[in-house]
Formats: sequence, C-alpha cells, structure tokens
Amino acid sequence: MLFDKIDVARSACANELGILDRLTWRRLSVAGIWRRGVPERLGGDGGCWGDLADAIADASVKVDLGFALSMVAHGGFLRALVEHGNDWLHRKVLPSMMSGSIGLTALTEAQGGSDVSRCQLSGVSAEDGWRITGSKRHITNGPVADRGLILGRLPELGRRDITLFVVNLSHPSVSRGETENLAGLRSSPTGGLTFTDTPVRRQSVLGEPGNGLTTLYDVISFDRATYGLIAARWLEPQIIKAIKFARQRVAFGSPILEYEYVQGRITDAIMGVRTAEAVSRRALRALDERAADAQELCSVAKFVGTELMVKTTQDLMRVYGHAGFEESAASRAVRDALGTVIAGGTSEMQRKNVLNRYLEAVS
Ligand SMILES: Cc1cc2nc3c(=O)[nH]c(=O)nc-3n(C[C@H](O)[C@H](O)[C@H](O)COP(=O)(O)OP(=O)(O)OC[C@H]3O[C@@H](n4cnc5c(N)ncnc54)[C@H](O)[C@@H]3O)c2cc1C
Repeated sequence: MLFDKIDVARSACANELGILDRLTWRRLSVAGIWRRGVPERLGGDGGCWGDLADAIADASVKVDLGFALSMVAHGGFLRALVEHGNDWLHRKVLPSMMSGSIGLTALTEAQGGSDVSRCQLSGVSAEDGWRITGSKRHITNGPVADRGLILGRLPELGRRDITLFVVNLSHPSVSRGETENLAGLRSSPTGGLTFTDTPVRRQSVLGEPGNGLTTLYDVISFDRATYGLIAARWLEPQIIKAIKFARQRVAFGSPILEYEYVQGRITDAIMGVRTAEAVSRRALRALDERAADAQELCSVAKFVGTELMVKTTQDLMRVYGHAGFEESAASRAVRDALGTVIAGGTSEMQRKNVLNRYLEAVS
C-alpha cells in the first residue's frame, strides 16, 4: 500500500544524479510512514519501532538501498526525538518530522568518525542556550535535511561535556558543503555541515547536557538494528533473480545451478538472509523492551546485516560471470553494499561494542 505509487525509474534517475528522490519522500510522508512507532499521544499511529524498520526495509526494495539509508538517518532522528525529547521538542519539532521534513544525525568530523568522543564541535553559553561552532563531514542527508541531531561538547561543563543538540539547519549560520561523490548509495545525498555561532536554545538539547554519549548509544542503536532487516529484504529479490539466471545459463552441458559451487553461493545467501532477519527482529524487540542487552544485539544486527550485504552481492555478481562485472544491477549492488559497513559505525566498531557490552555483563 505504502509503495503503490512508487516509480522505480525515478529512483534510478535519482541515483544517477546523486540526489534524494524528494517526490517519493513526500509521498511516503503523506502516506504516514513517519507516524509508525510514534505513540498516539504524540500524534503517531502507535505500534513499535519494528514497524518503522519494516517500512524502511521495504523501501530498500521498492525504491532503492540509498533511499533506505536516508530513511534510516531520518528514522533514527525521529525515534531520538520521541524517546529522549522534552515536551518542547515533541510540540515544536516532532510534528514536522512526521510530515515530510528531513532529519539527520551528525557525529563524524574531519579527524575521525569511529572515536566520536574526540569530537571538536563545541558550544558557548548564550542568552537562552548556547551558540555552537564546528564542522561535520560525511553526513547522510547533510545536503537536504531541515533539522539534525548534532554531537558536540560544552566545555563549561567540565570533563563530562558531550552533548546532543537539535539544530535548525535552515539557520543562516549553518552552511552546507557540496554533495560528496560516493562510490555507491548515490541516491542518499551525503555531505558536510559547518556551524558558526549557531544558536541552540536550552530546550533543544536531547537528554541532559553533558550526557550526550549515553543518549547517543541508544539513538544509534535503532539504525544499527534496522540494517539486518534491510539486508534480508533487499537481498531476497537479488537471490531469486540470480537463481533464475543460473537455471537458464548453461556451461559444460548443464545449467550452472546444478554445480555445487554455484549452489553454495546461493545457499550461503539464503541462510544469511534468514539469520539477518532473525537477529534484527530480536534486536528491535530488545530495544523496544529496553532490555539490558539491546545495544549489544543492535551491533550484532548491524554487523551481520551489512557484512552479509557485502558478501552476498559479491557472490551473486560472480554467478553472472562477466555480465555481473559490467555496469549492471549486480555490480551497483556491490558498491551500494560496501557503504553500509562504514555508515552507522564500521564493522570493527560493532565488534568492539559487542565484546565490551558482553564483558560488562559478565563482570
Ligand atoms: C554512506 C555513508 C553514510 C554516512 N552517514 C553518516 C551520518 O549520517 N552521520 C555521521 O555522523 N557519519 C556518517 N558517516 C560517516 C561514518 O560514520 C564514518 O565514516 C565511520 O564512523 C568511520 O569513520 P572514519 O571514516 O573517520 O574512519 P576512522 O574512524 O578514521 O577509521 C578508519 C578505519 O580504522 C578502523 N578503526 C578505527 N578505530 C579502530 C579501533 N579502535 N579498532 C579497530 N579498528 C579501528 C575503522 O573501523 C576503519 O576501518 C557515513 C559514512 C558513509 C560511508
């Protein structure tokens, strides 16, 4: 239903041009996609965050993977507002984010993305809040977003100073860099943002000032959990297409699907898809239930889902032989998949997080 009117030619064109398909974004917003998971008392449809994750995973197939990545960025911001926002943010910011405005989460800076605690962007006290100055890089929706969750520091707070600011990105003190020229996921515009004395009112801090890292771990967990579902949904039609090809492509007198090496690639893909879906659903449930192991499970879902996308797209490309290496859906899928093991925290960071969380629970 949500995707009834989606025009796949538009999304291919958006990917070619390296822009967000805004018409599709608007249509999905009007159809109510951003009310999923938001409690009814805040104007949403109720349900759980898994409902939103499901819709995003569907978009990875019905629109494309890049578009789904932009949705993940927006969905993470939306959930953060709901779960950690105060009454002012719920009244003044959340409604527009449910009805078509675009959100983002900006952590990465020029000196690195993995170690977010070293971020340099910082704020100084001003009349009714703070003024923030600094730059972010490689931000999904950076070129197009209306509001964003910006990670920075408030040195006046002392050692524990990391803070999450909700910022109006249309303010004249915010400038945007060029859209970055990515190797894949081109329908998800990514770019830098520079803040120069940008005003942030007191009510626009998410969670408590100085407690940004703790809030952040919960915020990014939704994005991470969703990748497993996306992987499962996005890969399934690609597996089916490869099977159809392998049934009709003949080598040494038989369809290549009869050869065990080819069957092995397909079998790994099917088992991976089933695993990623199960892990992701468990992580999303744990997040909704605020379970103690939720963040660990979300990292597992991110790791399993995105590494699966990389391995499976390469495996399927090989099934097509030379045809897969030509500029084709199969080779584009490989490039798109590669971006997902970096966005939202690299696989190494997910491994580190899983081990650290597990060790904490054991001690
Ligand atoms: C498509 C895409 C979308 C993105 N969207 C966003 C966004 O919306 N918001 C945002 O804030 N950022 C975004 N990013 C940036 C992304 O989060 C960072 O690129 C990522 O966190 C890695 O940071 P880095 O590139 O600075 O690499 P670095 O942190 O410099 O790391 C380089 C390499 O070293 C490894 N490494 C670093 N530290 C360790 C360690 N302790 N142990 C083992 N290995 C380590 C990393 O895993 C990586 O392989 C996006 C990136 C991509 C590709």
